[in-house]
Amino acid sequence: MSEVFDVVVIGAGAAGVGAGRRLAKAGASFLLLEARDRIGGRAWTIGGAWPVDLGCGWLHSGDVNVMTAIAEALGLHVNRTPAPWQRQSEEHEIKAAEQARFRESFSAFEARIEALAEKNPPVAASAYLEPGNPSNALIDAVFGFISGASLDQIDARDYARYQDTGVNWRVSEGYGALFAKIAAPLPVRMATRVRSVRAGVGGVVRVESDRGVIEARSVIVTAPTSTLARIDFEPRLGDKIEAAAALPMGAAEKLYFALAQPEEFLVDSHLFPRADNPVMGSYHMRPMGRPLIEAFFGGDLARGLAEAGTDAMTDYAREELAGLLGSNFPSRLTFIAASGWARDADALGSYSYAKPGFADMRAVLAEPRPPLFFSGEACSRARYSTAHGAFETGQDAAEQALAFLGYSEPSPRA
Ligand SMILES: Cc1cc2nc3c(=O)[nH]c(=O)nc-3n(C[C@H](O)[C@H](O)[C@H](O)COP(=O)(O)OP(=O)(O)OC[C@H]3O[C@@H](n4cnc5c(N)ncnc54)[C@H](O)[C@@H]3O)c2cc1C
Repeated sequence: MSEVFDVVVIGAGAAGVGAGRRLAKAGASFLLLEARDRIGGRAWTIGGAWPVDLGCGWLHSGDVNVMTAIAEALGLHVNRTPAPWQRQSEEHEIKAAEQARFRESFSAFEARIEALAEKNPPVAASAYLEPGNPSNALIDAVFGFISGASLDQIDARDYARYQDTGVNWRVSEGYGALFAKIAAPLPVRMATRVRSVRAGVGGVVRVESDRGVIEARSVIVTAPTSTLARIDFEPRLGDKIEAAAALPMGAAEKLYFALAQPEEFLVDSHLFPRADNPVMGSYHMRPMGRPLIEAFFGGDLARGLAEAGTDAMTDYAREELAGLLGSNFPSRLTFIAASGWARDADALGSYSYAKPGFADMRAVLAEPRPPLFFSGEACSRARYSTAHGAFETGQDAAEQALAFLGYSEPSPRA
């Protein structure tokens, strides 16, 4: 007779790895099933002369981020150089006074949302912009990067609930590499796509994959909101599917160039192409001192470029950089790699945002339905859209499954 696992975890991204780590510590019998042929999901470091992250790269809230200590305990290096996003190098296109006004306007905008969003009826975050403020375009651009969507698409309360200390660090070897390292001792069956989950007789759940049936006493689901409805659940999970639809995936994409003359730029410097239009890339020069540019696109621009393909994304970035740094500049760039999350069938975007009026859907999505438990970045109330938030939801789901299975005391995270 085949084994009945205590827990089957669907997905080996940050949430699945978080769940697996907790289950291993408890001594539970479990298996992670992963549709892709690699671990990490939206956490993905690719090698080469320098490791680059096509998905998550920043340890947001690095000073309190659970992944910081785990990375260091595993022998990886945490780079604590501050993030350069809010600084424009050498006043290119955006003068110092305009940058100062932007920073002030952004803080005031965030303060209004934090003070009022929970008290007022639910509205889109754009309702909290100060009408006529010349920094509004740049604020909207930044939200395209943060949320993968524009201010009129996202719920203000959801944003108010997001917690961040403003400290952003990086894993020198790559954030994706960290998740792969944590997962190395865990039992993962790769290239195994789960098609259906059926609660059966005798408390056994049948998990049907394209590589056979696996049985378990409980299941942790980590699929992103964009693909959850593809799994056929019996009994049906109508409210979860509705919650996932109210928490769609935004779009964010990355592109890396190698620099022929890196000394032209300061280490960890940054350029926005303009301040008067939210449709633009963000360019991080010499990240961690490496001779690279990391380009970042958000929102509709990111989705359009990903759908148009890598050449279109590369051409767009070269053109914006030529506008900033001169028409000869692109000849000094060599393409290294680009993401395509919006066209990746197992992601269909970057991270979840809540549509206006639907911030509470994160709790609906996360609610346990024993023997089924739910995790993934979209389930986090305060750390959604992040890798550490996803990891924590995986650990929480593992705690819930262990309690359901009768394992003793919960343990602190990590
Ligand atoms: C461009 C970009 C930049 C980002 N930057 C940052 C950052 O700087 N810092 C940060 O903290 N976060 C960042 N993020 C977000 C972060 O990467 C995600 O929030 C996090 O990795 C999500 O983890 P997850 O486990 O919830 O989902 P996923 O990583 O999507 O994992 C889910 C896994 O489940 C698998 N799966 C789904 N359905 C099935 C099925 N039916 N059967 C089997 N397997 C299945 C998928 O293949 C996937 O591997 C970024 C993301 C992107 C795209």
